[in-house]
Amino acid sequence: MGNEVDQRVHAGEHMYGTGAPYWREDGSCSYCGSMSPAEALRRMRLPGAHFSGTDKIGYKAYLEAPDRTDRGASKFYFRHLRELSDVEFREFAARARKVLGWSFERDGGEQVCWAPKTTSFYGWQTYGVIGPDGEPVHDKDAPKPMRDEWWAAQARK
Ligand SMILES: [Zn+2]
Repeated sequence: MGNEVDQRVHAGEHMYGTGAPYWREDGSCSYCGSMSPAEALRRMRLPGAHFSGTDKIGYKAYLEAPDRTDRGASKFYFRHLRELSDVEFREFAARARKVLGWSFERDGGEQVCWAPKTTSFYGWQTYGVIGPDGEPVHDKDAPKPMRDEWWAAQARK
């Protein structure tokens, strides 16, 4: 069976008799509706793709295809990062910092996601579109992601 979702992703969650999660034909997880991490990474580089973070806590992001007509998933749940190898995880994390402004780390078996502190009720989030060169163009009214130097300074505290 090549289309089963990695068991670590939804381990411990109630399955309500739905059986093991699998990838639907439209590319979404049968349990949570998320797209795959590979697709999420692809869309964070895809010219014309729309991205936005979510409110309050880091658990998902919206990554919409350029024409916004895709029938499959337009959201990515961060718990699906559990299926990535350490190398893949670091690649995703580096990209997510630039695009979403969130930082992802693995701390032992746990996955941590953090964002800059903010006074916004909705928490730190940004949004925009991937430009023709594959780099994110954040909306003019959206917060701009912190640079690598800023993140490095946080790690030393
Ligand atoms: Zn899922």
